[in-house]
Amino acid sequence: EPGLYIVATPIGNLGDLSPRAANILTNADVIAVEDSRVTAGLLRHIGVKRPMQPYHDHNAEHVRPGLIARMATQAVALVSDAGTPLISDPGYKLVRDARAAGHAVVTIPGPCAAIAALTLAGLPTDRFLFAGFLPPKEKARADAIAEIAGIRATLVLYESGPRLPATLTALAQGLGDREAAVTREITKKFEEAVTGTLSTLAARYAEGGPKGEIAIVVAPPGEAPPATEQDADAALADALTRLPVGRAASE
Ligand code: SAM
Repeated sequence: EPGLYIVATPIGNLGDLSPRAANILTNADVIAVEDSRVTAGLLRHIGVKRPMQPYHDHNAEHVRPGLIARMATQAVALVSDAGTPLISDPGYKLVRDARAAGHAVVTIPGPCAAIAALTLAGLPTDRFLFAGFLPPKEKARADAIAEIAGIRATLVLYESGPRLPATLTALAQGLGDREAAVTREITKKFEEAVTGTLSTLAARYAEGGPKGEIAIVVAPPGEAPPATEQDADAALADALTRLPVGRAASE
């Protein structure tokens, strides 16, 4: 069927490519790719050869109209180097324009490092904010952190090993010393999740960030909001027993 197919691919373990994703890639007329060498490896794994069209930040404006035109009669698949396209990766304007042109838009969901990191961290998951990569420069990074500091949600960020120590320090300063997890190499051989407060994690990595791919998860500010009305009642009753009623009245 003609249209745009957004295909999630593995974030490190080829076993995570879904049968549906493999089927779409096998039958696509063209695959829009970030890096053709990376996607060629994936296609080799499933024993498939398909035409690839590089589509990345540097050529997207130029290439997009042609891809949109092809969707009228052809199946165009979009992949990124790893995980879910559009998530800290190119693609949203392709979806926007495909919709505007009236083409079918179909998603084949699958691996996403942000979601995988959330499942490993052991922190609240009922509300979360995906903040992507923070700006690398100190001032811009501090501003970006200040902007999200008041949000009552778990935060999920992407980061590189070399920048991890400075980012953890900046997060501890800008958010307060919250519980957090540094997840690394998810679905790969050296997968790990190191938990602790932001300051202990900053101290742990002070000598230098680890190798590999990293996602950071940070707890919401203060106490997590009560999950149910019953919890809220219990919290209120508990707080009332601690009020220094006698002294407050006499002073
Ligand atoms: N679209 C991808 C997704 O769905 O996760 C993310 C692309 S973004 C350019 C790449 C970043 O995702 C890495 O720098 C790292 O922060 C994070 N990441 C990707 N794979 C990961 C993995 N296996 N473990 C931990 N973090 C990962």
